[in-house]
Amino acid sequence: MANVVIVGGGLAGCDCAWQLARAGVEVTLYEMKPEKRSEAHTEDGLAELVCSNSFRATGPAAAIGLLKEEMEALGSLIMEAAFATRVPAGGALAVDRALFSEYITGKIEDHDKITVVHEEITSLDGEALKGFDAVVIAAGPLASAELTESLMATVGDARLYFYDAIAPIVSRDSIDFDKAFWGSRWKPEDDDYLNCPMSEEEYKAFVTALLEGEKVKPRDFEKEVHFEACLPVEAMAERGEMTLAFGPLKPVGFVDPRTGERPFAIVQLRTENADKTAFNLVGFQTKLKYPEQKRIFRMIPGLENAEFLRLGSIHRNTYVNAPEVLDDTLQLKARPGVYLAGQITGVEGYLESAACGLWLGLSLGRKLTGLERLPEPPVETALGALMGHLRTKPDKRFQPSNVNFGLMPGLEGRIKKKFRKEMYGKRAQEAFAAWIEAASLPKE
Ligand SMILES: Cc1cc2nc3c(=O)[nH]c(=O)nc-3n(C[C@H](O)[C@H](O)[C@H](O)COP(=O)(O)OP(=O)(O)OC[C@H]3O[C@@H](n4cnc5c(N)ncnc54)[C@H](O)[C@@H]3O)c2cc1C
Repeated sequence: MANVVIVGGGLAGCDCAWQLARAGVEVTLYEMKPEKRSEAHTEDGLAELVCSNSFRATGPAAAIGLLKEEMEALGSLIMEAAFATRVPAGGALAVDRALFSEYITGKIEDHDKITVVHEEITSLDGEALKGFDAVVIAAGPLASAELTESLMATVGDARLYFYDAIAPIVSRDSIDFDKAFWGSRWKPEDDDYLNCPMSEEEYKAFVTALLEGEKVKPRDFEKEVHFEACLPVEAMAERGEMTLAFGPLKPVGFVDPRTGERPFAIVQLRTENADKTAFNLVGFQTKLKYPEQKRIFRMIPGLENAEFLRLGSIHRNTYVNAPEVLDDTLQLKARPGVYLAGQITGVEGYLESAACGLWLGLSLGRKLTGLERLPEPPVETALGALMGHLRTKPDKRFQPSNVNFGLMPGLEGRIKKKFRKEMYGKRAQEAFAAWIEAASLPKE
């Protein structure tokens, strides 16, 4: 009988183990708690939620809502537990975190194909990982130090990162093109960048708002993550009123076509995808609280009505440069037989991590039980878009992503803004239904 060893009993490890066991594969799941804990884990159970108890929005008009529907249809243990331990939270899905972890721990421990071992794995070469058909590393964003070192030795230290510095992404349709204009520095003909020009008054008011905006307090173990090349935009503003105007908001090489003059400062937006439906705010990694980001970044001329597909953040986060390091099946190119799942691959978020584990469990289960390879979910679906992110080589440093409509291909034709989310949702649902049918997967 096929057997797999999984390192990490978090959200990804548990959904991966569940899918493998359902396929008839024997699973050994190593979890280092309670003997050893990361800086954020405090409880003993599996699938611990280390921060918020929310799995965010429901319904097909949000990419995360679609992901929930798809995970549920694929038999996700995480979704089953979430519904079983749900607490009221308006349109969001939130859970009682203690019951949630207890539910999953019970299901995993009771499964006759899964053995849980409470022990830290410190090396990819350790005896504990030998003799299995596949090894899955799902040790999360705070994977223990020795295991991380071993992974780094395998993939190369330039391909494993310890923090993320994420800038917000806005949808193209929400940008005011009467104010924003195309062009890169000295090259007005380029259409890879959009530019939002600022007058002196607008710039100064913006800097004041950045300084006064409410920030997320870093946890103790996150205090060291601010590297010079990736400073939060508000930290740069703290260095002096003109620091941003001489740094990422430098207007040199630009002429505002509306005025024929060089603006006082400029915010650059870089395309996120080939369809140019989504743009990130260059240099705007931030620790501002989410509502503050929306309020303050909408002060930027052209972004008054911006729809944020993703908000900015800076975290301690262990993850690999997935497009370089992993193949299409989430297997390490440098070490066939070893797979990664969850946040360590470069997906971001509780459900995204679980979905990644679920997908690996499903596809690996099929492979190890001699069934035909499962086709990739199409990129129009939430799961397909998320997995697609791990294969897409970025221009700059690879950054983790949560699931959002910007990862999916743009919609065809001109569609009114108020119908767009609905259309993305409908297209995703149709693509998912066709995929599940073609893949002969049972719908739960
Ligand atoms: C501080 C913090 C707050 C976060 N808050 C949120 C949030 O509010 N909402 C959200 O959507 N996402 C949040 N995230 C991001 C992310 O979605 C979660 O971290 C998520 O739990 C990742 O799932 P995972 O399965 O990849 O890792 P985890 O859930 O972290 O699971 C990894 C497991 O592996 C175990 N482990 C680690 N190393 C070893 C080893 N060497 N041997 C054996 N076991 C090991 C750990 O003990 C842990 O149980 C947060 C991340 C951090 C770090």
